[in-house]
Amino acid sequence: MIYFDNAATTRPDPVVVSVMNEYLTEQYANPSAGYSFSAGVRSDIYKARSNVAKLIGCLPEEVLFTSGGTESDNTAVIGGSYAGLLKLRGGAGGCSVSELIARPGPIPTVITSMIEHPAVLKAAHRLEKMGFRVIYLRPDLEGRISPDKLRSAMTDGTVLVSIMHANNEIGTIEDIASFGSIAHEYGALFHTDAVQTLGHEHIDVKEMNTDMLSGSGHKLYGPKGVGILYVKRSVKLEPYIVGGGQENGLRSGTENVPAIMGLSKAASLAYERMDADNAYIMGLRDRMYLRLTELTDGCVLNGAPLMVGSRLAGNLHVSFKDVEGSSLIIRLDMKGIMCSTGSACSQGEGRPSHVMEAIGADRDTLNGSLRLSLSRYNTESEVDSAAEQIAKEVEFLRSVRC
Ligand code: PLP
Repeated sequence: MIYFDNAATTRPDPVVVSVMNEYLTEQYANPSAGYSFSAGVRSDIYKARSNVAKLIGCLPEEVLFTSGGTESDNTAVIGGSYAGLLKLRGGAGGCSVSELIARPGPIPTVITSMIEHPAVLKAAHRLEKMGFRVIYLRPDLEGRISPDKLRSAMTDGTVLVSIMHANNEIGTIEDIASFGSIAHEYGALFHTDAVQTLGHEHIDVKEMNTDMLSGSGHKLYGPKGVGILYVKRSVKLEPYIVGGGQENGLRSGTENVPAIMGLSKAASLAYERMDADNAYIMGLRDRMYLRLTELTDGCVLNGAPLMVGSRLAGNLHVSFKDVEGSSLIIRLDMKGIMCSTGSACSQGEGRPSHVMEAIGADRDTLNGSLRLSLSRYNTESEVDSAAEQIAKEVEFLRSVRC
């Protein structure tokens, strides 16, 4: 099998797997218990928090472990909006959310983009149902959100801005630091979904002016079902999950220790090898694009140019004229090549990609799209053989088109 769907998930690093195994078989204590067996695990979780903190430039206490990117995004968007609403209205005073929203004053507003992952978009829809006003910024053709557009949408009522660091479908990297500084000028909180960039791009939460940042273990060669949410110490976030008070009261539930330790190991590996990995992966990605354009006609690159800082190193998103992308991925699957037309979460829903629609892709480009996302495990020979196979399948699908 050739696996080119690393934006959907990555193969866990063998070192990560062996660390996790230790916490599944030997160090299985509940970290909240009072005996010495637990104390060791508690202190290991603290070290895990420090490893993640080092990767994103924050304090260990500012890192929450969650069940994944989705929970981190939901917590940041819903909890952050509620915290912002309380600030806007000067406290709850025993009122419900709808009573607070209805009080006189600026309209409580959340600003996000049209190309966010559903973990943010659906949380935003929920806020709309609660009575918040939500503005969805449209990106340009390359998937970039303009800081000027954000500035013109800001009002005194803006409580939260949430814009992703890099898009999971087309790989465009956004100007996060500018968004953060604009949000702060208006006293709003700023969250970024960094699920696709954690461990892949240099992140410094202070330089990026973020109050909250989401990440996920399984996108950086770590396990599934674990994520992180950075919450700046000065931010009084409302917890989304309540219960036993773990994670400083911000995320209750017994910690998923093996997954947290796996994520921690993946974060340390990323810290050591990110630049070398990126140079290698980008070389493969560019080779793939070159081969595809040599071997096929009508192969169009979607999103930002293949340049450092503009686009994720491992992301190649192309469209083939007169080809149905969904048929192409089925035929490639039959040949042992795993890739996708867009995000794993929108696969099977039978709807066109909201990202491609938002950037204004025409029908042909939208239908004929293919996302190849590469990892440090891919090789040049995989790239060459996949490119040849893709070219053959494109030719076949064009020949049978009625
Ligand atoms: N945000 C982005 C940009 C993603 O790509 C994903 C997963 O594909 C998520 C959020 C959700 O993360 P998780 O799968 O850990 O819930």
